[in-house]
Amino acid sequence: MTTTTVIPPQSTAPDARTPLIGVLALQGDVREHLAALAAAGAAARPVRRPEELAEVDALVVPGGESTTISKLAVLFGLMEPLRARVRAGMPVYGTCAGLIMLADRILDPRSGQETIGGIDMVVRRNAFGRQNESFEAAVEVTGVSGSPVEGVFIRAPWVESVGPGVEVLATHAGHVVAVRQGRALATSFHPELTGDHRVHALFVAMVRAAVAS
Ligand code: GLN
Repeated sequence: MTTTTVIPPQSTAPDARTPLIGVLALQGDVREHLAALAAAGAAARPVRRPEELAEVDALVVPGGESTTISKLAVLFGLMEPLRARVRAGMPVYGTCAGLIMLADRILDPRSGQETIGGIDMVVRRNAFGRQNESFEAAVEVTGVSGSPVEGVFIRAPWVESVGPGVEVLATHAGHVVAVRQGRALATSFHPELTGDHRVHALFVAMVRAAVAS
């Protein structure tokens, strides 16, 4: 008597539990974020065009120079699509210049500087000083297991004030340096530069929860 072995069809679909997270790749430390997201268990890819934005589950807005990122986002036709996706609930994480890009209001914008918005806060650019006043400090971040994390501050902004829907996750020297509002996360500092992926892991967990809901 012959027996038949039934081989189940191989699934070629990507693991539904692995979210695809874009990194806005107009200017700034894109490569470091791609590596940190991959290390935190996400699939990651650069986003430069509206079609690429449409394909990702979530987005990181990197550190760099917010005035340049703002200008290029307008030039590349990305500003309105970015605002629309954030309004529609796409998870976003901004570091430093990215935090500025996610602020509803900048205290001291360059003329013509626009933001994506999404977090009800007012930010002050270069609040911790210029490039030569960059520093590192241990920062306790709510929601990051085993906190503190090493905070790298480079011409860093701080959050001057927040609206009622915004949760303050961290402060440094009496100033707010990490916040969350719903699916939007922002830090004044750069976890992508430290090799410690716990803040990215927090974001990936936020994205997984959003994708599953
Ligand atoms: N000061 C910069 C800005 O205004 C941010 C610096 C950074 O991202 N490291 O965009």
